[in-house]
Amino acid sequence: MKSPFVSRRDFLKTSTLAVAGLPLLGALAAEPGRKIGFALCGLGSLSTHQIAPALQQSQFCRLAGIVTGTPAKAASWKAQYNIPDRSIYNYDTMAQMADNPDIDVVYVVTPNALHAESVIKAAKAGKHVLCEKPMEASVEKCQQMIDACRAAKRQLAVGYRLHFEPNNLECVRLAREKVFGGLKFIEAGFGFAIGDPKQWRLNRALAGGGPLMDVGVYALQAMRYLTGAEPLQVSATQTVTDEIKFHDVEESIVWQLKFPGGILANGMATYRFNGINRYTAYAERGSFGLEPAYSYHGLHGKRSDGEAIQLTDIDQFQAEMDDFAQCILENRPTRVPGEEGLRDVKIMMAIYEAARTGQAVNL
Ligand code: NAD
Repeated sequence: MKSPFVSRRDFLKTSTLAVAGLPLLGALAAEPGRKIGFALCGLGSLSTHQIAPALQQSQFCRLAGIVTGTPAKAASWKAQYNIPDRSIYNYDTMAQMADNPDIDVVYVVTPNALHAESVIKAAKAGKHVLCEKPMEASVEKCQQMIDACRAAKRQLAVGYRLHFEPNNLECVRLAREKVFGGLKFIEAGFGFAIGDPKQWRLNRALAGGGPLMDVGVYALQAMRYLTGAEPLQVSATQTVTDEIKFHDVEESIVWQLKFPGGILANGMATYRFNGINRYTAYAERGSFGLEPAYSYHGLHGKRSDGEAIQLTDIDQFQAEMDDFAQCILENRPTRVPGEEGLRDVKIMMAIYEAARTGQAVNL
């Protein structure tokens, strides 16, 4: 199925790549009804509260293994999810997964700047990889991840759950079908007041940046999937008012993008206050958008003609994993490939450069 999020040119590029480069997994094809085995790598908040529960509901996937550096977590996950000892790994033993046919996919859910090392280990062990957002902390590391998966002939997907979310898909439809005419301007922002000052999200070496990398990537994604285009130019400004908490990463950031055809976009990401979680797209004859736009549940929005946007509330993680499992089973490309994550990291690096230099950056 063609993703409404992807431009026609990119879709054709990825489909050709898949047909030419990816093997059919004979073992899977021979066992109808077999669920794709996922190993979760990094058992923190997201794995515990969202991904593992979603795997219990999944139609096409199951929790088959874990990778953790904490023996106590290995014991409690083993007990809770009945995971056999042979499918419990730490970050140094991941190569041994090569001998474990129960694991088809490794889902990397570690701090941002540690994604590449686990993705590359998983690919070298012959596993497909789903990697959380943002893909990594630099364009170079994203490219290394793509290269490792390509060399291993395995798929790499980025955890962009909103590509499977009905309300976001409806907004993409409104934009692409020009229901209100051609897009002219997009306004998007996401943020929250961050707590614990010692957490990795405030440590540049582990996070790669501040709220732009963590939550701004959702607003950037919205700009790209609504327009279906790549920005040509970026300008940006960032601020820090709490210099103790935000000594390593930005506190808040705003950015502007110029897209082909003169579409403009204004973005915002913050770790300083709650309440911003939305986008609005303005077109020639009206506007539409979501608020909240990026949460796990309860997304809804409105259109300027008075109609509500309120489609079925789904488990986005289940949808994302089930889609990836089907891509593997049917040997077709994911709609959220590593190349898509790399594009965002490239633009975010340009946003940081523009904020640092005060100059617009051409992409
Ligand atoms: P978390 O801090 O709760 O969990 C991180 C895990 O990584 C922990 O289990 C920790 O033990 C492990 N880890 C391994 N090496 C570490 C190190 N050197 N320092 C710190 N932790 C280390 O974080 P989280 O909220 O689960 O986020 C993990 C990833 O998931 C991040 O990339 C984040 O951006 C992403 N995420 C995505 C969504 C989404 O909606 N898709 C939501 C939250 C987080």
